[in-house]
Amino acid sequence: MTNLRTIAIAALCIVMSMAATYSADAQENATGKYKKALFIGAHPDDNEASVGGTMLKLRQQGCEVVCVDLTHGEAGIEGKTHQEAAAIRTREAQAAARDFDVKLVMMTQIDGNTEVNKARYDEMKAVIATEKPDVVFTHWPIDSHRDHRACSMLVYDAWRQLDHSFDLYYYETMTGLQTMGFMPDTYVDISDVVDKKYEACQHHVSQNINNSINNWHKPVDTMRGHEFHCKAAEAFKKQIWDKSEIMGQ
Ligand SMILES: [Zn+2]
Repeated sequence: MTNLRTIAIAALCIVMSMAATYSADAQENATGKYKKALFIGAHPDDNEASVGGTMLKLRQQGCEVVCVDLTHGEAGIEGKTHQEAAAIRTREAQAAARDFDVKLVMMTQIDGNTEVNKARYDEMKAVIATEKPDVVFTHWPIDSHRDHRACSMLVYDAWRQLDHSFDLYYYETMTGLQTMGFMPDTYVDISDVVDKKYEACQHHVSQNINNSINNWHKPVDTMRGHEFHCKAAEAFKKQIWDKSEIMGQ
């Protein structure tokens, strides 16, 4: 029984990754708070369009950044089979990862049919434990897209199971259409990289990315910029665990 279960978990843990283009000693040279960051989104383009500016800012600090996609976006192109769509979106994700200068890891859940169960919890825990980040970013859990909700639950559970060994932040995706009830407490000024963010997102051609960038992401980035007194910002909600911000203990 144990062996069968181990084999099943191992099979689920098969992921496809692309070597990072940045130098191997990136972590040693990191100048900011974090040495290694994981961004975990449900679909190819979620991380980049939602918080690609923060990925770029962390890379500026020499932080190692890994972009994890829970699915290959199989259900994301009308008129294409799952296999065809996954192939197209994998190529798009790889091209975007090169421009963002991040390592890409693609997991094997299915777009539109993501699962939250014991095996999938173990799978997410294994991916994060292998990468050993000191900070993880993922979807805010209240979202109209079921895959975003599933992704958030899987990451939150891994954070608990791994003894809160990394900081956990939630991000928003097309607030009002997908993310709901999001009240951020942390901001990143992305003013100097916002143009590069939108340019790198252009690789996600199949997603009519200009439409979502212009209609959703630019207005949200600008609104968060107003809140943070800058041209453009990305906003986060930190999962609290350790000391009280008020009492310092
Ligand atoms: Zn998505």
